[in-house]
Amino acid sequence: MSGRPPPRSIVILGGGTAGWMAASLLQQRWGDRGCAVTLVESKDIGIIGVGEGSTPQLKAFFDKLGISEAEWMPRCNATYKAGIEFSGWSDRPGFERYFHPFPTEVDRFTEGKFFYATRARRAGRDVPAHPDRFYLSTRLARAGLAPLASDNFPFRIGYGYHFDAHLVGTTLRDFAVGRGVRHATATIAEVQLNEAGDVAALIADDGRRFEAELFVDASGFRAAIIEGALGEKHLSFGDNLFNDRAVVAPTPLPAGGPLACTKATAASAGWIWHIPLTTRAGNGYVYSSRYLDPEDAAAELRAHLGLAPDAEVRHLQMKCGRVERSWVKNCLAIGLAQGFLEPLEATALHIVLATVEGFLDAHEQDERDAFNAAVARRYEGIRDYIVCHYRTAQRRDTDYWRDATGHDRLSDSLKGIITAWFTGADLTEEVHRQGIADIYPPLSWHCLLAGYGNYPDPSRLRAPGPDIMPLDMAEVERFIDGCARNFPTHRASLAALRQRAAA
Ligand SMILES: Cc1cc2nc3c(=O)[nH]c(=O)nc-3n(C[C@H](O)[C@H](O)[C@H](O)COP(=O)(O)OP(=O)(O)OC[C@H]3O[C@@H](n4cnc5c(N)ncnc54)[C@H](O)[C@@H]3O)c2cc1C
Repeated sequence: MSGRPPPRSIVILGGGTAGWMAASLLQQRWGDRGCAVTLVESKDIGIIGVGEGSTPQLKAFFDKLGISEAEWMPRCNATYKAGIEFSGWSDRPGFERYFHPFPTEVDRFTEGKFFYATRARRAGRDVPAHPDRFYLSTRLARAGLAPLASDNFPFRIGYGYHFDAHLVGTTLRDFAVGRGVRHATATIAEVQLNEAGDVAALIADDGRRFEAELFVDASGFRAAIIEGALGEKHLSFGDNLFNDRAVVAPTPLPAGGPLACTKATAASAGWIWHIPLTTRAGNGYVYSSRYLDPEDAAAELRAHLGLAPDAEVRHLQMKCGRVERSWVKNCLAIGLAQGFLEPLEATALHIVLATVEGFLDAHEQDERDAFNAAVARRYEGIRDYIVCHYRTAQRRDTDYWRDATGHDRLSDSLKGIITAWFTGADLTEEVHRQGIADIYPPLSWHCLLAGYGNYPDPSRLRAPGPDIMPLDMAEVERFIDGCARNFPTHRASLAALRQRAAA
């Protein structure tokens, strides 16, 4: 890279996953160019300790740092993730669940058929148009397979991970410190600004002073520098994303072992995640405090998990929204300090990675405004996709669901997507027309809208006539079945990783 030289010193405030991810990336790019990276964390203020699912971008992150799966996955009790299964979001017969698959190169052979089928069904033709029958990742997860193709399978498969958030933090810490990041333990009591309004130093409660040219605020929901000291405005997403709390509880793994998918099951005032690690499952009910009390949420979670009425749970508050600008003065905000979208699509770490990588380029090219605009666009784009889950879900049994499916507080972009779907237009074209395929590709939008059964009522469907291309579902089935034979079981893959780690 060229352009502006890196800062000579960086202090990162916060040792959660975001702080250590940033430390690793900054050190890798600028560490040997005269930039000293220091991370300061408090031993009295814990990390949030949730955030156990990822998108495929986390794989890109570890690949970039040259950390192999055998090095980090067994240490973090990690499993593979081929996508997310949504259950109970729709009461339309046949659409009670659907799978949002991570993309694979194989999709190109079946996806065109699926997109075509959704259009025919939207036009009132009785053709099979549920996403689950068209994607390899769906088959892999449901069949207990890992999304790891054998060497002679010539197509790339996108996948993410599930992991223990605490263990990922310590693993990344060891890695970053091993590569030269300095680590200090201190509780910061004051952020000192200079006359120009830049951050001059962080002052610890024991008087220690941490000075730097650049500061990274990774202090979690506290946002101690970006909001606390620099006063950057926080823009709430509460208007159309209602959930502001979570209650979490672990459970033992199911008898069959971990499947390579997250489960997101709709509940009375939100949804419940189920994330299988190698040693336990993480579960959490993400809900809105406007509709449900914490104690009732805990009771609903325990009942869902089959736990005793007094089983221990942990309550969390969530601040959903983002700071108006992420790079202000000499401070970059990342992680929860930068913003948070509720965890339905597990995008937080993906945003950390995109933010730090975008920042490294923008700093070198001196493009602060473009960077801030790109971060905002990413948040708004992901927000729209999550809002679309609620807005087009087919569930009206509680006030929460009636309100979540019934409001009109949608961005113009999302209105365009929903209008395209319900007017029978080409959704792929609309996604490309809006230029939002880099946030969520046509696959994701089709799966979501089709997965909840957003089609004409079955009683109004007509048999497909000669104008509709015949869909040979047996052929699709045979193809996916054949592909799936190239994949090992999830269990065997995890065992092989452990063996490699021990060797
Ligand atoms: C319910 C829930 C579910 C989630 N699920 C997912 C998911 O599935 N996938 C995903 O990608 N993300 C998820 N997230 C988000 C994810 O948890 C976070 O993005 C991730 O853990 C990073 O957090 P963080 O590092 O920004 O903050 P934290 O983990 O809160 O770390 C903050 C750090 O700042 C330090 N600190 C704060 N103040 C001071 C101070 N004054 N002095 C010194 N140190 C200080 C603390 O010591 C700590 O080290 C979820 C979040 C929630 C709330």
